[in-house]
Amino acid sequence: MAEQEEFAISADLVNKLRSTSYRAQVAYRQIKTASNLTMAEEGSSKEEIKAAAGESSTKTKEKAAKPTKGEKKEKSSSNEKDQKEVKDKQKPKNAERPVRNVEKRKAEKSLQEESPAKKLKAENGASEPEPTEDVDKMESDDFIKKIDQRRKDVCEDVSKFKFNKKRVRVLSEEEDFSDESNGVVYWMSRDQRVQDNWAFLYAQRLAMKLEVPLYVCFCLVPKFLDATHRMFDFMLKGLAHVEKECRNLNIPFYLLYGDASKAIPPFLKEHNIGGVVTDFTPLRVPAKWVEDLKNALPSDVPLCQVDAHNLVPCWEASPKLEYGARTIRNKIHNQLGQFLTEFPPLVKHPHPPKKMPSNIDWKKADATLQVDRSVAEVTWAKPGSEAAYKTLQSFCEKRLKHFATLRNDPNKQALSNLSPWIHFGQISVQRCVLTVRLYRSKSSESVNAFIEEAVIRRELADNFCYYNKHYDSIKGAYDWAKKSLALHKGDKRPYLYTRDQLETSQTHDDLWNAAQFQLVLEGKMHGFLRMYWAKKILEWTTSPEEALAISIYLNDKYSLDGRDPNGYVGCMWSICGIHDQGWAERAVFGKIRYMNYQGCKRKFDVPGFVLKYKKKKMEMKK
Ligand SMILES: Cc1cc2nc3c(=O)[nH]c(=O)nc-3n(C[C@H](O)[C@H](O)[C@H](O)COP(=O)(O)OP(=O)(O)OC[C@H]3O[C@@H](n4cnc5c(N)ncnc54)[C@H](O)[C@@H]3O)c2cc1C
Repeated sequence: MAEQEEFAISADLVNKLRSTSYRAQVAYRQIKTASNLTMAEEGSSKEEIKAAAGESSTKTKEKAAKPTKGEKKEKSSSNEKDQKEVKDKQKPKNAERPVRNVEKRKAEKSLQEESPAKKLKAENGASEPEPTEDVDKMESDDFIKKIDQRRKDVCEDVSKFKFNKKRVRVLSEEEDFSDESNGVVYWMSRDQRVQDNWAFLYAQRLAMKLEVPLYVCFCLVPKFLDATHRMFDFMLKGLAHVEKECRNLNIPFYLLYGDASKAIPPFLKEHNIGGVVTDFTPLRVPAKWVEDLKNALPSDVPLCQVDAHNLVPCWEASPKLEYGARTIRNKIHNQLGQFLTEFPPLVKHPHPPKKMPSNIDWKKADATLQVDRSVAEVTWAKPGSEAAYKTLQSFCEKRLKHFATLRNDPNKQALSNLSPWIHFGQISVQRCVLTVRLYRSKSSESVNAFIEEAVIRRELADNFCYYNKHYDSIKGAYDWAKKSLALHKGDKRPYLYTRDQLETSQTHDDLWNAAQFQLVLEGKMHGFLRMYWAKKILEWTTSPEEALAISIYLNDKYSLDGRDPNGYVGCMWSICGIHDQGWAERAVFGKIRYMNYQGCKRKFDVPGFVLKYKKKKMEMKK
């Protein structure tokens, strides 16, 4: 999608340039060359770039999609409305005054003295380390050890680290962690890992200052949206690793059952806990868990939230709903200097609890789930941070070099495949970026492209879900898109399929069927095909509302990385033009960007992809 938007901007620019002079035409060609696009779909084939730029092409059969007039006006008015709506959103309080009676000034001074800032500059700034020879030949143990070492190079532990307080906000009225208490709880939710987790680190920092034990609680609910056993299995197995790692660090890990608002307050009472730290998600249901817990906590127990998922905390990246990547990109890039730092290590906690809990019975936990167990676990993605590091390593060593040029080809191995682990917080995106950047001298374009996807596009998705309460509904679309879709609601659809027919790959389109089968079988559809897949659902169902509901249902049910801001935004982008612009009007789609089979054929070997999944289906039947 990144490429498409860049194309859209370029096309706009080239139109202006062409209308002036020869010099402008030269500039136009330069821009075209520089953009070096591997167009993602029909509306952005090379022919269509020309068409959008005003050049005629005999090869182009479909009409080029062009930005519509008056769009700017509409953009700004809907933007103003959106901004107004979100102004009332909870404003971050000035976080951290949480430790009372601790020699704060002294501590801050010593922090400054031991600040890792200089080291970090060397590690992450202009003089970032070049990849060394051994990076390529590293065994996965070495890879993980190197990452461990980088953390240790920052400082001994988080109490000596200059923690960026902009990552934290206090949600409760009470801001201070009482020094009378006997512990700090990290309520782990979205970020299910030990290392490279700013929320966990912040909790350890508080517990160290207060000289009390640190506890981790995870609240297991019996069902979550359309998640099936495939996802819960991945999550529980990942959490089993977290439990083990915590135990080795003198940190008890508790699996609590039910909503946090019911499960956590009694736990705090039992263990005389002084305050709670949690991580951040913009999604409705987990955000309500946080809100409910805030209301259920005793008034003297503070609740802090740390955005441990985004590089730039969502509320710092932008205070409002952003229109698209181009409006948020600079806001994020301008803040990376202060947020894209190496992590300090989460260490053996110096204040263990009196008693460690007994091992968690994960089978029993699994038995409490009330989910669809018919969707099988996948074999290619092993749960847990270690498997995530291995995937990151293989991406860096094998696939990253192709990322810039081949990531839109579903037959090629060019993607990171990290989304399942990123979604469950089993790996930090910041760690992925810090590591991928080490390969800049070898694959600069790919590194930039990865940062665009993993940081800009992903954080834009969080921004959308955080500031737009209708993030999974047509109501959340821009006015131009809503009007256009409404105008074409009655258009005759070329094919009509039910949800069941779609779910079981029974359409006339062999590519679509293969993509859907990939999703069902492997729990992850190739990123390029996801766009085609969702757009065809719009074309083949009775209404945009139905299309959106079906695409979200299938994505959430089968995709390991589903139930994620990226998923809602991906479906909304495909079906109702979120973060996109209006294109030339056509049946059913209105001004929503169109994709078709022929466009896919021009980009990759469609029969090859179809055959691959036909074979897999045959193998399964045997
Ligand atoms: C209809 C549709 C549904 C989607 N559903 C999901 C979903 O449920 N979960 C999900 O994580 N992504 C979703 N995406 C976005 C994107 O397709 C996936 O993030 C990507 O395919 C994941 O594979 P990867 O990790 O190999 O990606 P890579 O290309 O290797 O990218 C690395 C990381 O960057 C982020 N990223 C990449 N592309 C995007 C994007 N377009 N928007 C936001 N972040 C991005 C992801 O975190 C991804 O893991 C969806 C896109 C569409 C069009």
